[in-house]
Amino acid sequence: MKEYKIYRILLGEETAHSPDGKISDFQSARELLEKKPESGIVLIDGLKGKKTSDKLKVFWELVELRESVEFCCAPIYLSRTMQQVDILVDGISSNIEERLPEATSILERGKRISREKLLDNHNLRMLSYMYVRGEEYSLSPVCSPFSQWIYSYPEMALLLDSSTKASKILRPEDLSGLERLRSFRFDTEMIMALRAVAFLEDHGYITRNLLVDRVRKCPKCKTGHLNYVDVCPNCGSIDFNKKLMIHCFICGHVAPDSDFRKNMSFVCPKCNTVLRHLGSDYDHPLESHECNNCGSKFIEPDVKADCLFCRTRTDPSDLTVVNVYSYKLSEKGSAAVRTGSMQMEIQLFDGQNNLKFSYFCNIIEWMREYRKRYADEVFTLIGLKFSNLYEVEDLLGEDLYKKIMDELIFRIRAMVRTTDITTSSAPDTFWILLPRTLFDNSTILAERIELLNDKLEIKSDKKIEITAKCFQIPTEDNEISAEKYLELFAEEL
Ligand SMILES: [Zn+2]
Ligand SMILES: [Zn+2]
Ligand SMILES: [Zn+2]
Repeated sequence: MKEYKIYRILLGEETAHSPDGKISDFQSARELLEKKPESGIVLIDGLKGKKTSDKLKVFWELVELRESVEFCCAPIYLSRTMQQVDILVDGISSNIEERLPEATSILERGKRISREKLLDNHNLRMLSYMYVRGEEYSLSPVCSPFSQWIYSYPEMALLLDSSTKASKILRPEDLSGLERLRSFRFDTEMIMALRAVAFLEDHGYITRNLLVDRVRKCPKCKTGHLNYVDVCPNCGSIDFNKKLMIHCFICGHVAPDSDFRKNMSFVCPKCNTVLRHLGSDYDHPLESHECNNCGSKFIEPDVKADCLFCRTRTDPSDLTVVNVYSYKLSEKGSAAVRTGSMQMEIQLFDGQNNLKFSYFCNIIEWMREYRKRYADEVFTLIGLKFSNLYEVEDLLGEDLYKKIMDELIFRIRAMVRTTDITTSSAPDTFWILLPRTLFDNSTILAERIELLNDKLEIKSDKKIEITAKCFQIPTEDNEISAEKYLELFAEEL
């Protein structure tokens, strides 16, 4: 196995790692990056890490390294613990030799990744970061109890795209950094990291590993610092007392027992009857609370979640429930890293009848209206979905895969009439709009397309699978948009 370079970023005099002929020292990440280094292991050394300013220095070095295409996925270690910063590196080690096996394996896996592809694709960097850390790697959420976001993925926050002018995220020259590190709250970054992770999950690049926790958030501001208060069900006041209540059987009056006490006996303050026997003259009703604000009596107070940020009071059942997961790279994510492309775009249709998805939906809306007036103006939709593309490409290699796809696309195009309109709603999902076509006739076409599955000669375990289905949009229901219908139909594919 190749011997990789070890780069030490020496931030001070307090080294924990003894100098070693194999290690090359740099004063900063910037100095290292200016050398256009080949891939290697990074060790940050020289600071004791007791002071916040030390941690901050280390932190900004990490930001700079992770922002670079050279070290965004590299194995990075600290020579000493830096508390909160530790979660951002691969480990703490005063003897980097001990970490060589794992660091080497990270770099070996990294060899498959083209730096060029990572240049302006930060989502791909996130997937690559997970990929090089091996199949066992799981992206874990980190809890920050005083933050707005409560749980996020700080490792991913370091890999966000900070080059866009609009976002002022994680810039070393950001002076508020010190303050932000002290509380370790990078709210913007962490919320963006949450979104990035959600995006990767939604698109199937990562899959849930473990359910780590479940938190409830304020539906209005989405923070999670909630104070559960019990309130008067009538007026919402928190000012009420638990009292022993008495219910007079004679007149029905209900009041705290203190109102009934007169000398040594119970006298109803309303009807003046002397109440002697529990059960026959009076009893204790279930209402045992009295509101000091509105005077109403009740059995149980209501419980509300009071948001400490925006002060919205919410019924606990209406809070936003968020499940917090750890994630693993999916097959699709791993394929994206290896091919350097996040989307397996197929250009199934081209030409002037292939429309943007939104225009396609507009035409359907128009045809729905038209059909209301002219009932015989029927039209049908065929949905097409390709599965196993990643897997098959991986098994067959790029060239053979391309040949097969070209053949397939050629055959499908040949079946489509020049009056049919096409679009795609996802990289692997396509739609054909067939005007003046009865459902049964388009079913024949869908079946012919699906027959192509048998004609494909693919010598591998996984096969490209085409699903073709016909759909009709009901005339009566105007509540649901064409776009929504296509979304529903796509789920059936
Ligand atoms: Zn009240
Ligand atoms: Zn009474
Ligand atoms: Zn709130």
